[in-house]
Amino acid sequence: MDAQLNFAPCGYLVLTEDWHILDINQTLKEMLGIDNAPENMRDILTVPSKVYFQTYFVPVIHIHGRVEELYLTLKGKQGPLPVLMSARERNSRYECVLMQMSIRDEYENELLVAKRNAEQIQQETDKAYNTLLGLMNEVQEKQQELMDLNHRLQTMATTDPLTGLYNRRVFQERLAEQIEKAAEKHTVFSVLLFDIDYFKTVNDTYGHNVGDEVLKELAEKIKGQIPVQSTTARIGGEEFAIIQLEADQASSSAFAEKLRQHIATSIWRSKAITISIGIATYQEGDTAESMYIRADSALYTSKRSGRNRVARDTRQSMPR
Ligand code: GH3
Ligand code: MG
Ligand code: MG
Repeated sequence: MDAQLNFAPCGYLVLTEDWHILDINQTLKEMLGIDNAPENMRDILTVPSKVYFQTYFVPVIHIHGRVEELYLTLKGKQGPLPVLMSARERNSRYECVLMQMSIRDEYENELLVAKRNAEQIQQETDKAYNTLLGLMNEVQEKQQELMDLNHRLQTMATTDPLTGLYNRRVFQERLAEQIEKAAEKHTVFSVLLFDIDYFKTVNDTYGHNVGDEVLKELAEKIKGQIPVQSTTARIGGEEFAIIQLEADQASSSAFAEKLRQHIATSIWRSKAITISIGIATYQEGDTAESMYIRADSALYTSKRSGRNRVARDTRQSMPR
């Protein structure tokens, strides 16, 4: 190798096709910080550069006979040495020129730091996003719990726990609503009160638990008979009420009789019972109280005249 090439301001080497180094100039040896020529290109490449060299340099130079500006990192004595390499194939030899690239290295380091920062920011963003998702799920769960709790409270406030029917409070509220509506719009409706006949005897004979089963079974049987828009409530121990909408005297009497018969004739799992029913149909001037009293007195009439029957109170209410 002549002195000009040996000390040229760039690295120079000649390779065989199997990467054996035939010649290397002094400049490249100085760049690498070595005195003796290495034997093989593999000896001076970092692992990633070896892979790159194998997968890019070898096929490209085979096809085109040349490779332009291939970025590689050499294993220098002082550490990794980034270089830009161009090569020509001549007589089955690869003649290579290598330019040291310290500036690019710094630039790449900056890029690397920026990339790492971006990755870290991304990781932190992901973490914060996941935390947020977790919190949102928690809020959703709490909201659902609150809704369930409200629903349970609402149910507890309006439902009789033994039978699942409405309680006395709902009956009173709905009755007041209907009175107001009937007075305003001149509509008609009826209230049915009913009570189990000789229920004390059931309790005394079969025990309180059987008594409870009778109450539950009675509620089931009633539910199957009642029009949807009616309100059915357990208003006392063994006393029940139905607010039957748009029901005049004739239709409420027919309905009450049908209900009484259904209870009296159906088959019971617990203990067969009968009921007595009292009806009051809205008359102008009725209040919730007057209607209740009229229905209750009709129920009393039912009981007094033998039980397992329907009676109606026809007393006129006092005009308001
Ligand atoms: P009548 O035909 O005149 O209605 O006679 P009765 O025996 O049904 O009437 P009474 O008012 O004398 O008795 C009602 C009984 O209902 C008394 C009470 O122990 C019972 N009772 C009230 N609430 C419950 C309950 O929740 N469970 C049970 N098992 N019994 C109840
Ligand atoms: Mg009673
Ligand atoms: Mg009774």
